[in-house]
Amino acid sequence: MTESWSTGTARRGWTAMGLDTTSLRVAFGVVALTMLVLFYFVSYRTSRSTYCAWWCAALGLFVAGSVAYLLDGTSQQVWANPLGSTLLVAGTSSVWGGTRALGGRGFQWAPFATGPAVTAVAAVLDDPATNTWAGGAVMLASMSLTVALASRELWLVRPSPAELLRREATFSPAVRTLAIMSGGFSAFYAMRFVSFVWVGPDGEVFERYFGSEVTTLVTTVLLAAISFSMTSLSYERETEELRSQATRDGLTGLLNRTEFMRQASAEWRAKNRSGAQGSLILADLDFFKAVNDTYGHPAGDYALQAFAATCRGIVRSSDLVGRYGGEEFIIFLPDVPTARAEQIAGQISGRLRETATPNGMPFPTVSYGIAAADDGTDLADAIDRADRALYEAKATGRDRVILSSDDRPGPG
Ligand code: GH3
Ligand code: MG
Ligand code: MG
Repeated sequence: MTESWSTGTARRGWTAMGLDTTSLRVAFGVVALTMLVLFYFVSYRTSRSTYCAWWCAALGLFVAGSVAYLLDGTSQQVWANPLGSTLLVAGTSSVWGGTRALGGRGFQWAPFATGPAVTAVAAVLDDPATNTWAGGAVMLASMSLTVALASRELWLVRPSPAELLRREATFSPAVRTLAIMSGGFSAFYAMRFVSFVWVGPDGEVFERYFGSEVTTLVTTVLLAAISFSMTSLSYERETEELRSQATRDGLTGLLNRTEFMRQASAEWRAKNRSGAQGSLILADLDFFKAVNDTYGHPAGDYALQAFAATCRGIVRSSDLVGRYGGEEFIIFLPDVPTARAEQIAGQISGRLRETATPNGMPFPTVSYGIAAADDGTDLADAIDRADRALYEAKATGRDRVILSSDDRPGPG
């Protein structure tokens, strides 16, 4: 008696607000469908990314699941409710698949299919013709677990290689937002599960706080919020990709010449303000044409990449390294005096001599020209001095480091 009275109160609360389950589910379905159409055309069609495809699949499954649930209470609920639950869990599995794709991890069928399969079996065995909540506990637990896995994947997403190259090892705000939202969703479903098992679907706590009305409202809001975050994430990644293509050399990943000049000019001004003594290095691989001619163009490319990686490994992350031309590189060390720059150049060549090469190719030697980055001069002037020093290194036998004659200490 008490049980049915309190149930009635909870139900009356929502119904008094005009929020009955069916209307809410229709609204949810319409919102999900709108999100699906918008997201497909705005985000997926432009990015064609796997994680956007997964989110489209998830939205589609949520729409289909909520349509199936509309048959609840009719003679068709015997198949419609189990199908609805299975589709919704499959939707959360797709969310999980999408988060794995986002983190660059592969797709696995077994964990993907387990939740929907277990939910389907539990619902079918739980008298779905008369029991509206057939398999409810299993469905709630599956949803909570799958979305918890998705949230975990999102926390594990590392900055993209392009972000790392730009030395901006920050985490995408969109990914963090998604991780928090899915964590909240998972916790909500965990509480639904606990209260479902504890008081049952007719208990007041479940009805009032975790019943179909509240859930449908919560998921409608989340769906819109997640779609928005996914759109901004997709946009963020595309912008990142374009920025990287515009500023990086495709072969070596170093700054391209234009970007090097832009960043080095800014660093140069900062250096002048702080009064630091910097250096500029121009490096050119020796007899590189012969490497291509003898060992082939791919071997030449490999040598360029190895040189770039070695430079990056030796200089600090605050120093700038760029590809200046074909086999010519430029390094700006804003607060390193020329004597130390000469040692660094020597270190690079030393490390390269130890680098293993394919088919026994001897690693090409490197000539360096170094100029001081003094207060009274500018970047173009330093490049000019380094270039002349490099020419001198070439003319006097290659495989050496030469300091610009203008920057050598005068006699006495
Ligand atoms: P030096 O010691 O005087 O610098 O002689 P070098 O042979 O290194 O100089 P040269 O300027 O004659 O030749 C440079 C070669 O670098 C010619 C060009 O084909 C090659 N090269 C330029 N860019 C690339 C590239 O991206 N990949 C490969 N494999 N080779 C490149
Ligand atoms: Mg060369
Ligand atoms: Mg050259």
